[in-house]
Amino acid sequence: MPSSGPDGLQAARAQLVGYGVRLLADGLALGSAGNVSVRVGDIVAITPSGIPYADMRPGDVCVVALDGTELAASETPSSETPMHLAIYARYAGAAAVVHTHSPEVIALSASRPELPAIHYAITGLGGPVRVAPYRTFGSAGLAAAAVDALDGRSAVILRNHGAVTYGRNLAQAYDRALLLEWLARTYRMALSYGEPATLSAAELDEVTAETRRRRYGERR
Ligand SMILES: [Zn+2]
Repeated sequence: MPSSGPDGLQAARAQLVGYGVRLLADGLALGSAGNVSVRVGDIVAITPSGIPYADMRPGDVCVVALDGTELAASETPSSETPMHLAIYARYAGAAAVVHTHSPEVIALSASRPELPAIHYAITGLGGPVRVAPYRTFGSAGLAAAAVDALDGRSAVILRNHGAVTYGRNLAQAYDRALLLEWLARTYRMALSYGEPATLSAAELDEVTAETRRRRYGERR
């Protein structure tokens, strides 16, 4: 989480503009679709509604309290602000949220109930990623559906809509969005050969345990 105070907030606004441009460059959203936020202490900096990322400036980034009160009213906060705030409220480990309209996860969401584990890297998202039921964009219902489907995960796919990831900072949340899109693409490719083999819960648990062991080893 960036430090609170004016410097931290200013840094967060600049960072959000940079990641907005990356959403376009990486094919995770078009125009002004999708949205990105960072929690800075007790406030949340979030990309505005309707401004193309290519034209966005740090001063356009909106600031809201955790209860949704607008603290800087130059632009209208993203329509998905309720979903971002619901994630910060439910998951203490969330300090940044990335919402994409990326094509591979949208394609998957239209026909599958979840993204299964066909590659062990999915443990980086907590395991197979659920597809939350369809709800109208910007609604409290969508926020609730996304938060519920995130249980035990750091990523969720929104049916006929897109995806959401969170992380301890924006870099981690964004890397997870890229990983999710890569896993969805890889799954689609695997389906072209027939029904793919998937990893069991026990195999995924062993990956998670091995990752922890290696991290612990590196510190010593
Ligand atoms: Zn959306």
